Amino acid sequence: MQQPRCAGCGIALQSEHTHTPGYVPESSLDKDSAVCQRCFRIKNYNEASSVTVNQDEFLKLLGGVASTDSLVVHIVDIFDFQGSIISGLQRFVGNNPVLLVVNKIDLLPRVTNWNRLRNWVQKQAKENGLKVADVVLCSARRNTGFDRVVEAVNSLRRRRDVYVVGATNVGKSTLINRLISDYSDLKRELTVSRYPGTTLDAVEIPLEDGKSIIDTPGIVYSSRLTEIIPREDLGAVLPDKPLKPITYQLNEKQTLFFGSLVRFDFVEGERQSFTVYVSGGLPIHRTKMEKADALYAEHRGVMLAPPNLEGLEGMPPWTRHRLRIQPNTEQDVFISGLGWIQANGSSGATVDVYAPRGIKVMLRDSIL
Ligand code: GDP
Repeated sequence: MQQPRCAGCGIALQSEHTHTPGYVPESSLDKDSAVCQRCFRIKNYNEASSVTVNQDEFLKLLGGVASTDSLVVHIVDIFDFQGSIISGLQRFVGNNPVLLVVNKIDLLPRVTNWNRLRNWVQKQAKENGLKVADVVLCSARRNTGFDRVVEAVNSLRRRRDVYVVGATNVGKSTLINRLISDYSDLKRELTVSRYPGTTLDAVEIPLEDGKSIIDTPGIVYSSRLTEIIPREDLGAVLPDKPLKPITYQLNEKQTLFFGSLVRFDFVEGERQSFTVYVSGGLPIHRTKMEKADALYAEHRGVMLAPPNLEGLEGMPPWTRHRLRIQPNTEQDVFISGLGWIQANGSSGATVDVYAPRGIKVMLRDSIL
């Protein structure tokens, strides 16, 4: 029997995984002209929702963008900047302008110096090989900065199609919904269609001037802690209020546990302070390095939680990352999905980070 396909975007329909492309409730699977959940929501509620793919599938999908004349809007999450920036994007967009939209700035402390942050973003984008036409800082949650996003799209688009790209959970749906309501005539039913020449279900949302917003699936990066922890622990790891930094004065040979997700050892260096930027919902335990192995063996999944013991079973084992912070530099130890630890000493430090295998752990210039 031929597999049924979505009458909107053409993706093969399935009724097993709600967040995977082509989802439709079982009862609608056999109907004539059934549409997938994403197309259904755009058509009926003028509302985009998320579907996901991995990076390889995504880059295949994006292969054709370089030869089009379009604007690429890349959304990243400020709480997980290095975890949500799409590496290799530049190669695929060709000469098309890229607007970098930095979302979730409501999570940063209220005293943040926004000009400095913007410079930091520009520098980080460059280090990731991305040439950006403009950077806009915003918060979909607080509805701040979105006017600036629409303005920037207007001034850069010049009657071109708009591709919206981003990793999962960066706020892409929220932004697209805003663009739809700003650009299209809501009295008219929106139609969606498969974007020509693509192998995946990029969905084309027509605009009044004959051009389109092209909503691409969100990319899943398994290098982000938030993608691999048990779903029930997401609430503890994802901050939903402005971060409240906590500063620890540490001597060398001291350890911090973040639940039982990550262990941070200050291996060597003069006594100094480290400022932790993680969700307030995540318990932190401090101990001596010499006691850390035993503490972990005895208390993982219970006192050191989340995750609980059952959740830990489903996670990859830790790998150790040794990082050397040079004297007189301002650096963060960045752990994708968890947050970051700013090193405040001027004399340098050697630290070890134990994190689940595959999670991105790195040093970066301090964000704040
Ligand atoms: P998508 O997967 O990229 O389409 O992202 P969504 O729009 O579905 O949002 C993902 C999650 O991030 C949801 O839990 C949102 O509530 C949250 N979120 C989106 N925008 C913001 C924001 O500006 N600030 C904060 N704190 N959370 C946000």
